[in-house]
Amino acid sequence: MQHVPLLINGEFISSESQQFIDVTNPANNTVIAKAPVASDAEVDAAVASAKEAFITWREVPVSERARVMMRYQQLLKEHHDEIATILSSETGKTLADAKGDVWRGIEVVEQAMNVPAMMMGETAENVARGIDTYSYIQPLGVCLGITPFNFPAMIPLWMFPMAVACGNTFILKPSEQDPLTPTRLAELFIEAGAPKGVLNVIHGGKDQVNKLLNHDDVRAVSFVGSVPVGQHVYKTATDNMKRAQCFAGAKNHSVIMPDANKQQVLNNLVGASVGAAGQRCMAISVAVFVGDAGEWVEELATMIGQVKPGLWDDEDAAYGPLISPQAKARVLSLIQQGKDEGATCLVDGSDFTLKGYETGNWVGPTVFSDVTEAMQIYQQEIFGPVLCCMVVDTLEEAIALVNRNPFGNGTSIFTASGAAARKYQHEIEVGQVGINVPIPVPLPFFSFTGWKNSFYGDLHAYGKQAVRFYSETKTVTARWFENDIPTGPNMTINLK
Ligand code: NAD
Repeated sequence: MQHVPLLINGEFISSESQQFIDVTNPANNTVIAKAPVASDAEVDAAVASAKEAFITWREVPVSERARVMMRYQQLLKEHHDEIATILSSETGKTLADAKGDVWRGIEVVEQAMNVPAMMMGETAENVARGIDTYSYIQPLGVCLGITPFNFPAMIPLWMFPMAVACGNTFILKPSEQDPLTPTRLAELFIEAGAPKGVLNVIHGGKDQVNKLLNHDDVRAVSFVGSVPVGQHVYKTATDNMKRAQCFAGAKNHSVIMPDANKQQVLNNLVGASVGAAGQRCMAISVAVFVGDAGEWVEELATMIGQVKPGLWDDEDAAYGPLISPQAKARVLSLIQQGKDEGATCLVDGSDFTLKGYETGNWVGPTVFSDVTEAMQIYQQEIFGPVLCCMVVDTLEEAIALVNRNPFGNGTSIFTASGAAARKYQHEIEVGQVGINVPIPVPLPFFSFTGWKNSFYGDLHAYGKQAVRFYSETKTVTARWFENDIPTGPNMTINLK
């Protein structure tokens, strides 16, 4: 049985811990590896190693740091399919989805390669007579990343390449549910030339996170995961005077105007809602049909009902199982609650199972109509292949509905009207908006900008905001006195 190693001070080591967490194949829940629950001493050793490495890493010229990212990007590309296969085997994601997960991460590494230009400060000459002011962007120190199960390549890659390129050192605490992918990412990072201690990987759960959040030598915390844990991490980190950015849960609405291209809408909504088994923080989980577009609900439900889940290496499978039996039980209980609360279940995936894999965490595609704001299936993030459909009379009503929702990660509008699209993009209180684009995840030269309960903090992931998050600005105000300029035979500086 494979035991997942820790990465401390440049070495992949077996944990001294006697406590392990099973890593499973979600298609049938067989155990494929065991992840250690790192001891307190191992957590301390990882932080000490990162602290020590910072002393020299911060002095490495920014262009050399960028070159490590270039080599890393090359290695990730060479190992792209291999990483995707590891990812599929521990998450159940289809290979196509897994490749997308890896690729979106590589794009962030490409952004990290551009770090020299992003670390340039500002200057102003003669802010007062003979006085100049200029600023430098300097790294912070030891940064911490805590990541969720659903994108085990992309989300760690949102964090450590940007932080390290800025001159910081990093501790990664990946999800205990799929630690094999981040371990492979870390191996390749070392192969790319990251010096020892620059990246450390600690495995475990809440105790390891809490120890790290309370560690005096950790300067900044990046978190991606659920709302309750995100709130806890944000409060604990900031209580401990650390900088924090916490990306949390979501309930993303897509608004469908009656003038939209119907076929385009329906095709897009199928993949955006139940793709990746709905385990995407940007998945569309509520479709809001405006006016006559409400007549399309039944046709959408029929199309979603034809979607077939399957094994990761089955090219015909649209999506795989949920990550765990607990996740499956939670989704099934919410589906039942939807029925009990009076929503119409047009497609019911509760009884779905895959032949030969009956012990896996399978849930079939599910569609509800007649959903109201009071229902649990509307209020909670289901994080499964379940779409809620609602019908309203006007665009104004749709905007008010979305804005009343406490989450603000992503949203989209389908319309042929520029005026409707502009009104929506302007008035909607959601951080990422798609116009005829169902899942508007920004490329890494922008930032990933969730709002409201989907994000706690101010500076977001990747792009220029990540550089700001992982750095300090030092502003120098300088005055030189002309009568100090050396003159005569002892002159040491040739001013001409
Ligand atoms: P989770 O909150 O259960 O776990 C996230 C991380 O926190 C893991 O590393 C886990 O070990 C750790 N953790 C769990 N419980 C903890 C506790 N009590 N104290 C301290 N640490 C703890 O999330 P998950 O189930 O792995 O991921 C799914 C969630 O992540 C969904 O809510 C999804 O919307 C969200 N997500 C959000 C984004 C975004 O960008 N907003 C992106 C991806 C996923």
